[in-house]
Amino acid sequence: MPSKTASSTTLPSVVISARGASRLKNGHAWVYRSDVKVADDVPPGALVDVRDEKKKFLGTALYSSSSQIAIRMLSSGPVADLAALLRQRIQEAIAYREKVVADSDAYRLVFSEADLLPGLIVDRYNDVLSLQVLTQAMDVEPVRHSTLGALEGMLHPAGIVERVDPRVRELEKLPPKESGLLRGDKTKTIFTMNGVKFHFDGLEGQKTGAFLDQRENYAAAARFAHGQALDVFCYHGGFALHLAPRCSSVTGVDSSRPALEVADQNAALNGREVEWIEANAFDLLKDYSASGHQYDTIVLDPPAFAKSKQNLDTALRGYKELNLRALKMLRPGGVLVTCSCSYHVSVNDLLEVLTSAARDVHRTIRLLENRGQSLDHPILLNIPETAYLKCVIVNVSN
Ligand code: SAH
Repeated sequence: MPSKTASSTTLPSVVISARGASRLKNGHAWVYRSDVKVADDVPPGALVDVRDEKKKFLGTALYSSSSQIAIRMLSSGPVADLAALLRQRIQEAIAYREKVVADSDAYRLVFSEADLLPGLIVDRYNDVLSLQVLTQAMDVEPVRHSTLGALEGMLHPAGIVERVDPRVRELEKLPPKESGLLRGDKTKTIFTMNGVKFHFDGLEGQKTGAFLDQRENYAAAARFAHGQALDVFCYHGGFALHLAPRCSSVTGVDSSRPALEVADQNAALNGREVEWIEANAFDLLKDYSASGHQYDTIVLDPPAFAKSKQNLDTALRGYKELNLRALKMLRPGGVLVTCSCSYHVSVNDLLEVLTSAARDVHRTIRLLENRGQSLDHPILLNIPETAYLKCVIVNVSN
């Protein structure tokens, strides 16, 4: 039996400070570079033994030579066969989705730390998988090979595409790379969630193609939606298309023309009527609220305004302005669905913004639902960074 106090392998060792060790004891998976005491000659992306300053073995981790997050823990014990561990974790991630996903052939299959596979994201869109590699360790050739082999063997997709975020590769000091097809021959497909169909093109669009984390919120928003609806920051029409059968009219707003073109194709695919407007949401909401436009349902799903703690105040001002204008335009009995995907904006921050906006425009708001990300984006309570999406639904009256 492998002992918990000594590693049976000859991995390079990284020694961490007492502060780093206590972070791990509290259940977090990360150790910051400032808590790394010794990491001599450790290759980028290596599997490493993690030890405290008394040389006590703390577990096995993936190392990054460039990220501020130097260590991402894989196991509190030794790891003799990394490929086998990857296969097992991928299998567990798939089994978890079988339990928590309903009414969809598109969902996040592997969510990095939340699936104990730090640095790896895999999304399923029907028969096409989309893979993102976020760390040096997940980009090492044998690791990529094992990951792709496991995904192919377990799921038999028609294609696996890799989505590359050049900024991530730069931060990880990985050589530049293009997004592309890795396995199979298919990069485009049609997927379905909650009975609504969407086009997916693995080599186009933002993020990994769709905002799968909102899937359950689309269904929740549809339950309350009625009358005239406005979906602000609509992208490919996720909310708008879910609202359409419940509403007398739906308008989707986005500043990206290519996103609206896909949204329009999605509307046609589902036989739904939606008006799409290409505009800056801030300008449009300002004009519309000043000129007395009214709606019964408004969705606000802006991009992450707070990319770091430093711009939290500016971000909160942005959220406040959007929510204020939306509340002003809602008829009595109306519904506001307001979201934030910034990790740095807490649910309390968002509720406070909403409360103060309602106060400013003299509206009464009643909480209908306080929601987060879909269950295929699991939250590990000991790793707060795994929880990022907020979706608050309120009823608005005078
Ligand atoms: N609600 C969408 C996801 C929104 S993502 C869904 O469920 O799929 C954020 C969207 O905001 C992107 O499509 C981006 O093009 C758009 N966007 C960013 N800044 C904008 C702005 N100032 N005005 C309008 N749209 C904007």
